[in-house]
Amino acid sequence: MKPLMFFTLFLFCFSSCNTSKKVESQVITKAETSVISMKTDSKEVKKPKNIIFMIGDGMGLSQITAGMYANGDKLHLERMKTIGLHKSHAATALVTDSAAGATAFACGQKTYNGAIAVNVDTISIPTILEEAETKNLATGLVSTSTIVHATPASYIAHNKYRRNYEEIAADFLKTEIDVFIGGGAKYFNNREDGRDLLEELRLKGYQVGDYFNNELDTIQIREDKNFAYLTSLDDPIPAAQGRDYLKNASLKAIKALDKKDNGFFIMIEGSQIDWGGHANDADYIISEMIDFDNTLGAVLDWAEQDGETLVVVTADHETGGFAIQKESTRDNLVTAFTSDYHTAEMICVFAHGPQEELFKGIYDNTEIYYKMREAYGWPKIAAKANMR
Ligand SMILES: [Zn+2]
Repeated sequence: MKPLMFFTLFLFCFSSCNTSKKVESQVITKAETSVISMKTDSKEVKKPKNIIFMIGDGMGLSQITAGMYANGDKLHLERMKTIGLHKSHAATALVTDSAAGATAFACGQKTYNGAIAVNVDTISIPTILEEAETKNLATGLVSTSTIVHATPASYIAHNKYRRNYEEIAADFLKTEIDVFIGGGAKYFNNREDGRDLLEELRLKGYQVGDYFNNELDTIQIREDKNFAYLTSLDDPIPAAQGRDYLKNASLKAIKALDKKDNGFFIMIEGSQIDWGGHANDADYIISEMIDFDNTLGAVLDWAEQDGETLVVVTADHETGGFAIQKESTRDNLVTAFTSDYHTAEMICVFAHGPQEELFKGIYDNTEIYYKMREAYGWPKIAAKANMR
């Protein structure tokens, strides 16, 4: 960043901090009223430089509620004051899977269950991460599943079927993603086609690390390189069994992306809230929910300090038809499930930061893609018709 630009930014921050103090003041004079309206106006036009998009896979309202009570009646999610609901259905099914759900967020189109950033005709469609790349923003993915799992995959790969994990891993080589951290090393270096994608990433100029050779916390991400880190051979273990990287990996990724100066887009997924739902295991849901929320707390701290970052949190769908039963107390939740699969309930969207107001209301999951584009100030594109 040029010194002059830095100085201008400093002045801007200094003056806007000053006005926000005035807003909080109890005594409002006439002169100050005009300052307040200026402040409101400038807030309305301010665009985020960065978007941090966080997905709690399978995180319905009951999952959030259970996590909240288990965590002493509070969550960092409560710091996010702008709240909406999205309609989670897929193009060809009322109950979506994570692939169609992630594709809706990443590409703005409803598709069929199992589709990774392809439309109902299996044609590849551009993702917001790829568009961010072409606009010179830095990009990242962090996940507590394998990094080739449906949710992260739908930002970077294009495949007609979500379980083509080795093909999806190979798609990581076709992009210039700046940072990715997640499980599934075996899809990169123990493949049927014999390719060693971790070596190919190194040859492409990436700084590459894995759980086997170096602890993530001990690695310094080099500013002149892109960064890839594989946290496990296959699926990462549950938080309750000792997995603890989501918070640190997310902050590490965010700080590395922020150093690249042009703004960034990152998707961070708490993947295993969903797996707790599939297993009909309330303790699993709660421990994953709290791990995700602790990560969110650290992300919100960073974003508030930064002042130019929009944080959006949602889920792709609810999992388990999870409910908190009548016998429950705050200290002892009695829960039940109606399903070992996903359900069709509407899903909460939380937003905090510049342009957060865009996320109020009730809308299709695909709108989140258009709202994020609008928040960045990218040129408008026509929404694709949603098949219902
Ligand atoms: Zn699921």
